[in-house]
Amino acid sequence: MANDHDHTEPPSDIALRVKALESLLIEKGLVDSAALDEIIEIYENKVGPRNGAHLVVKAWSDRGFKQKLMEDASSAAASLGYLGRQGEHLRVVENTPELHNLVVCTLCSCYPWTVLGLPPAWYKSAPYRARAVSRPRSVLEEFGTDLAKDVSIRVWDSTSEMRYLVLPLQPKGTEGWSEENLLKLVTRNSMIGVELAKTPDQIQSMKQGID
Ligand code: FE
Repeated sequence: MANDHDHTEPPSDIALRVKALESLLIEKGLVDSAALDEIIEIYENKVGPRNGAHLVVKAWSDRGFKQKLMEDASSAAASLGYLGRQGEHLRVVENTPELHNLVVCTLCSCYPWTVLGLPPAWYKSAPYRARAVSRPRSVLEEFGTDLAKDVSIRVWDSTSEMRYLVLPLQPKGTEGWSEENLLKLVTRNSMIGVELAKTPDQIQSMKQGID
């Protein structure tokens, strides 16, 4: 895989300033660090990925939108109000029964922020960045995703100019579901490609777990 493209280096100066600010807020008793962790957790898993999930369920239920999304994901995302910074492009890669897509940034942590929010820590980790390329099937298995042997895996290396979002396969038996219910099936991990969209059964057992 080519490594000559332009990745976004982590902004060490900004990271340090944020850390200093965070320490000060905690010291002054204005926030506590558990609350801060919770906020970050919410942005990683809930708020951020909701934008991407919106694109996915719209593509599942609207053929015209899906075509627009596959042809020019940046414009399709912008039409729903999800605007990136200038110069970065979003590309959506579609899972099919024969092909599974997996996204990584081999050099740093390029990630489609506008549609997925903050990248999870494992996405930025060296083992994921290396092994997603060399042993993608094992990485998927570690996430509990067992693909049939005849499904090929294609790995996409994100850069600062090109960010990828996986369009997961719509689970069987969810045709005609409302957008609200479809949204429950689309996880952040399914849009990175380490997992599949949830099945109706999985949603059902999650609900029972809560009750
Ligand atoms: Fe990168």
